Amino acid sequence: MKIALAGIGKIALDQHVPAIADSPDWELAATVSRHGTVDGVEAFTDLGTLLATRTDIRVVSLCLPPVPRFEYAMQALRAGRHVMLEKPPGATLAECHALEAAALAANLSLYATWHSRHADMVPAAKAWLADKRLRSLTVTWKEDVRRWHPGQAWIWEPGGLGVFDPGINALSIVTEILPADIHVTQAQLEVPENCQTPIAAQIAFHHPEGARVSAVFDWRQEGAQTWEIEAVTESGTLRLSDGGARLSIDGKASGEAAPLSGEYPRLYHRMASFVQQGGGEVDLRPMTLVADAFTLGRRKTVAPFHEVPDDTR
Ligand code: NAP
Repeated sequence: MKIALAGIGKIALDQHVPAIADSPDWELAATVSRHGTVDGVEAFTDLGTLLATRTDIRVVSLCLPPVPRFEYAMQALRAGRHVMLEKPPGATLAECHALEAAALAANLSLYATWHSRHADMVPAAKAWLADKRLRSLTVTWKEDVRRWHPGQAWIWEPGGLGVFDPGINALSIVTEILPADIHVTQAQLEVPENCQTPIAAQIAFHHPEGARVSAVFDWRQEGAQTWEIEAVTESGTLRLSDGGARLSIDGKASGEAAPLSGEYPRLYHRMASFVQQGGGEVDLRPMTLVADAFTLGRRKTVAPFHEVPDDTR
């Protein structure tokens, strides 16, 4: 199947292009980007022109930042194309509901992807937790924003989510592996005085069986990076680390540590089956938790953020 990729930036080049190239299901037939291109692939700078001229391309995958994504997605759906969305599926929940309704009305597949859910050890963690009684779950997601988001001004603007841009990946795993739904009860958002979005956040959640559930996200972590979820149950402790690539139960590693390179091939495989068999998937639970953290969050102003650290400027 022919697919077009829109927003040729970091994640498109790092993950989407190789995943499509290696897939038996897909052919990258065109790109839409104001600056980016992919060697050997027809390039458009405007989605409308692609939709009007390449009627043979039935599927569009959107890798733009969240704020511009809605206009692109709605335009593609209105032109009768199936749509795949990078995470988060939009800048607001209302936008995502509107896209879902439009896709349903037109009988098109809309797939709001959560790549971290497809990390190797997530299914095993979900299976292990399915019949356990949870006492506590702690998310620790600490990374260096300068290392992972160089030059990305949009993450600090309204709708850019700040530290929730990686944090929502953790929440996409938590909502996948926990049998019960959680919701936010308290949050603290640390916002640099020159930014619109948080650089760190601490969140507390309600769990229906009274387990203590909390998350710490921090973008100021230099050196070793931490993407970890620890679930303490009455029958043992599960630790999912490296963003879902490693799993241990009571300190004993379960299976081989796997790289995260399987995530995007799995997303494209799933999109292929949606297009071939009909249907789609829009799970807004991770985004609801983030929206609620912004609604309930107590703001604390912290030191300004500069891409080049103060001591080296
Ligand atoms: P990026 O490189 O900053 O942006 C992707 C591309 O989107 C840009 O190259 C730009 O291409 C286009 N774009 C940016 N602003 C735009 C605007 N206002 N209107 C139209 N197009 C615009 O970002 P990214 O890191 O690839 O992230 C994109 C999405 O993928 C985000 O939602 C992010 O959460 C998600 N994601 C990122 C990563 C990662 O490691 N970076 C991992 C997983 C998921 P042109 O200027 O050429 O149009």
